[in-house]
Amino acid sequence: MIIGSHVQMKAPDFVEGSVKEAVSYGANALMLYTGAPQNTRRRQLSEMHIAEASELMKKHQIKAEHMIIHAPYLINPANSVKPEVAELAREFLSSEIERTHAIGAKYIVLHPGSYTTTDLETGIRTIISCLNTLDIPEGIVICLETMAGKGSEVGFRFEHLAEIISAMRQPEHFGVCLDTCHIHDAGYDVRDYDGVLDEFDRIIGLNRLHVIHLNDSKNEQGARKDRHANLGQGKIGFDTLCMIAHHPRTAEIPKILETPYIDGEPPYKEEIAMLKQKKFKDLMKAQ
Ligand code: FE
Ligand code: FE
Ligand code: ZN
Repeated sequence: MIIGSHVQMKAPDFVEGSVKEAVSYGANALMLYTGAPQNTRRRQLSEMHIAEASELMKKHQIKAEHMIIHAPYLINPANSVKPEVAELAREFLSSEIERTHAIGAKYIVLHPGSYTTTDLETGIRTIISCLNTLDIPEGIVICLETMAGKGSEVGFRFEHLAEIISAMRQPEHFGVCLDTCHIHDAGYDVRDYDGVLDEFDRIIGLNRLHVIHLNDSKNEQGARKDRHANLGQGKIGFDTLCMIAHHPRTAEIPKILETPYIDGEPPYKEEIAMLKQKKFKDLMKAQ
């Protein structure tokens, strides 16, 4: 099982600290933002402890492609109402590609964005023209994330992502990150994981699936809300999420937990242990 979680990236150890955090959870994969997820201010690469981080990854046998980079969620390549917003997304993404390359990672997870006051088709066209201005080097793949369909989000149907990828100038540099909370909220039945994968394969192609976000959901299937829950504390349930974590069809794909902190503490060590042992433990109950 390739399993990890979202980890922090902060002073003083930066990326090295991210790897340390992942190791402390018993993880063999991790996902980080290259700075604050809600803004685009970024540190110099020379300050980020990159060499120390890859040393530590080698020591703990974490593969470079199992360190995932998540682009900040505030950039919006689908916004055609304010062209400067999509322009900022474009600029940020090209610097993010450089950072990802320097860090030695491969996959950048990107939310396709929201069309705001226009419509879905305009949003998709705006994303396509934004992403097509990027020059993506060898070894980097941008993974569009499946979204819950909250507000005017693009990407709550596999068809949206397929349409974007098929319009790319460099389609070999694009893939998908499947978020279990998001697709459940978008209306897919994740309990029928094989059925979901079949549909994904038919519409996008399973060869494009590179990252799985493993989250429970606070809301009913189809609610289009996007509120993550801890494993077994939501409407998807532990058995389904554990089945997905161990499923042979996606065994090679890193699964990343983005479940909420409990009482200010990350739940990832316990949640990873639950998945390894295939046994639910109620983390909400005082021990
Ligand atoms: Fe995300
Ligand atoms: Fe996610
Ligand atoms: Zn989410």
